[in-house]
Amino acid sequence: MITPKKSLGQNFLNDQNIIDIMINAVEVKNKSILEIGPGTGNLTKNLLKKNPKKILVIEKDDHLSELLYKNFGDEIKIINNDILKIKENKLDKDILTVFGNLPYNISTEILCNWILNIEDNNFWFDSLVLMFQKEVADRIIADFNTKNYGRLSILANWKLKIEKICNVKSSSFFPKPKVESTVLLFKPKLDFYPLKNPKYLEKITRIFFMHRRKMLKKPFNQIFNGNFEVSNKLKINLNLRPQNLNFETYYKLAEEYENLRG
Ligand code: SAH
Repeated sequence: MITPKKSLGQNFLNDQNIIDIMINAVEVKNKSILEIGPGTGNLTKNLLKKNPKKILVIEKDDHLSELLYKNFGDEIKIINNDILKIKENKLDKDILTVFGNLPYNISTEILCNWILNIEDNNFWFDSLVLMFQKEVADRIIADFNTKNYGRLSILANWKLKIEKICNVKSSSFFPKPKVESTVLLFKPKLDFYPLKNPKYLEKITRIFFMHRRKMLKKPFNQIFNGNFEVSNKLKINLNLRPQNLNFETYYKLAEEYENLRG
């Protein structure tokens, strides 16, 4: 008998319809699969049926890792560790196809780490099929000029193409979470805006969206020290709000900041 641990965000997906939608979102046959937080193995079991080349799973919970070993033996490779401590690009020589019904408390941290750690265009995955809390997914897929647009949309859209697969009711999980969920599919974007140091994009978006209702004057001052050259060059009206600048403008701002930093 398994007692789900709240601290590890354990809400097990037990809706076969949603499991099927997730595993059919991309090609699995002959692929090397990475699953994050396999839990009791609901997704894993169904992924195995599609004849992947191999499956690696990362599960932090010791007890569940043992259970997975009991159920799957050598059919899968179990890494009993914390996803936040793992270097994904060193996991395997193959390009990975990633699935995860992520623990919600760390889902944005996982996604941001992945985006910021991709070196140039060396993508270690060909697709990510990930379950998020619906509010978080709404922020990831938001377009500019909308209320959900912000740091997450700008970071995710920088290197990834994003597609919404479906919304998921809370009754699809056990135990039932308090929130609705959404499955998103991400693929590498090959023509992303070239930035030398993505940390600056992270910093710029963090500061700009700290006060999303205030005019752009304030964060501009903070980042560029009252220097109007950058806003003039990019033709930015400083009376607008952060959500009114499109994706490309944020990438250009990060580039200008990068240039100033040398
Ligand atoms: N994929 C399963 C379980 C989802 S619940 C299903 O759909 O049924 C989230 C899973 O992530 C749990 O198994 C939990 O133990 C695991 N987990 C939580 N934090 C983790 C971390 N930091 N690293 C790896 N796994 C983690």
